[in-house]
Amino acid sequence: MLALLTAVHAQPIYLPGGGCRGPATVRPIPLADLRRHITAELRAAGLELHVVHDGVSERVLPRRDGAAKLSDLSREALVVVGCAVNRDRSESEVDWIKENREGQVVPLTVWEDEGRLTVAEGPPVPPLREASRGDVASRFGLQLDRDGDAEWSPRLAAGVEEALQTLAPEELEVVRAVPFQRSDAEPPMSWMGNPAAAAYRRDGPERAFLLYDTVVTARGGFVGSVTSPHHPAVHTIVHEMGHALDDHPVWNGQLAADRRPAHRLVEEVGPVAVTAYAAGNPKEAFAEAFALWKLDPDALRRISPATATWFAEGHHLQPRQAEASELTDR
Ligand SMILES: [Zn+2]
Repeated sequence: MLALLTAVHAQPIYLPGGGCRGPATVRPIPLADLRRHITAELRAAGLELHVVHDGVSERVLPRRDGAAKLSDLSREALVVVGCAVNRDRSESEVDWIKENREGQVVPLTVWEDEGRLTVAEGPPVPPLREASRGDVASRFGLQLDRDGDAEWSPRLAAGVEEALQTLAPEELEVVRAVPFQRSDAEPPMSWMGNPAAAAYRRDGPERAFLLYDTVVTARGGFVGSVTSPHHPAVHTIVHEMGHALDDHPVWNGQLAADRRPAHRLVEEVGPVAVTAYAAGNPKEAFAEAFALWKLDPDALRRISPATATWFAEGHHLQPRQAEASELTDR
């Protein structure tokens, strides 16, 4: 549905789970007031408001006869629009999960493109399913280990399963050689200053995905389209899988460091930071782009069509072929 949009910016920033901590999220104001505030704020910001309904984007404000009305939007969608108007929304897209009054989780996406703010709302979704750790390990042929007091919850097992299901066979082959380790260690701080939920670690020949206690407690965001949203834990796990692909020992053994997928992505496509986190370094840019390619390819196409094409053509899996063709060219 989102492929209708043609937002192409030079360097837009996408913030999965960017969230919003404005007053609109904490103050339950009457619906009529909420509509009035939002109408005034959109007008002051010079923005049109569009809403995606059954795959079709329709202008809601300024009002057009016979078109959708602001009063057709749910409270949750209005709150997210209110947040989007009030935050620094420059060239960004925010995926958001909002609990409605029935306690159901509603996925919403809001993005801005050339003076128009568009909101899309999905049907309520259940949180992470539950799965058995043993079933997931045997179905995918991989190791799900743990240290000390760390426990594998059925939801975390389901999160790992959901992440694995997004992989193509060649990607799965690389990832399944890396054991998952539920870790009871204190999570390290990410470069953005918040505790990490997971990490990819290589220590000599030993590699592992570390999953900290923080991995399933993330709240407030999702990644994916509103019709197929993923829990933030799934995004984190796919991101770490991206690091493992970039760090594939076969490639490292045969290639100079600058032929690794992360470096080639920057060289061949340019320095595209698809999220705020991706701005850290080429490895993070690759892992974030990979996660978005797997979980929300439509958003990646909007943000960076060249990056989406690079993944679609399998360049992240062909460093050896790229090397070989260069040798013949020489
Ligand atoms: Zn990372």
